[in-house]
Amino acid sequence: MDYGDMKAMQTTHVCAMCGSELVLIWDGENNLHRLCCAADHTHNGFQQRLSPQKALQRGQADEVVRPGAQKDLEEMAKRGVTALSLIPKTDIATGRILDDPAQVSLILWAESLGLTAHLGHVCLYHGKPYVTIDGYYYLLNEFRPELTIGTRPMSKEERKAYQIDLEDYAWIAERFREGLKLPGVGIGIVTKDEGEAKSSRDPGQFRAPVVHSHPQRMAEKRAEWQLLRKLIPLEVKE
Ligand SMILES: [Zn+2]
Repeated sequence: MDYGDMKAMQTTHVCAMCGSELVLIWDGENNLHRLCCAADHTHNGFQQRLSPQKALQRGQADEVVRPGAQKDLEEMAKRGVTALSLIPKTDIATGRILDDPAQVSLILWAESLGLTAHLGHVCLYHGKPYVTIDGYYYLLNEFRPELTIGTRPMSKEERKAYQIDLEDYAWIAERFREGLKLPGVGIGIVTKDEGEAKSSRDPGQFRAPVVHSHPQRMAEKRAEWQLLRKLIPLEVKE
């Protein structure tokens, strides 16, 4: 992560262990800038700062908005109050518009997992339903509220151990309970080639524009995703 990336992350993230703001410090020993918790420099792991909408999606509106907000806002989302409803309207891979029956089956599928399609918990990808990262966070918050997930770029040693190419982006997601790191990690990688790959339909465009412009964020997201899937094995195939 370069200095600009860390500066940007300071505004979007907080400490995963205590929720404090992040600061950039000079690490003289390793001769580099380091992003760390303002309250305790030994704290490890970052977490996205939640907007009210994100907090609602992840089941944490009570903490971020006000006590009781989660239930109220979920009801409004279910009634389809437009600003709150995040029900998928297209297949995110193909762009195919979902007709009413397709939306209804997605809503029912979400409900069968204890999730809410209107909160953006599920999506359709190449015609198959998937739980989104927010859906996984919602379940984690419901079943394992004592756990927090933190992410960070892989260390030099880890990059060596996992045999990551120098130019690739690699992140680690870890879980914490009461300030203690628990075993088990998620790994997220974006290779340089992947970010630079051009669209087969339009060689003037990148195949995955989001991966190209935000490779760090994408690697971070993949790490969170993998760890959440390990923690909440839904075993959903269809
Ligand atoms: Zn902290």
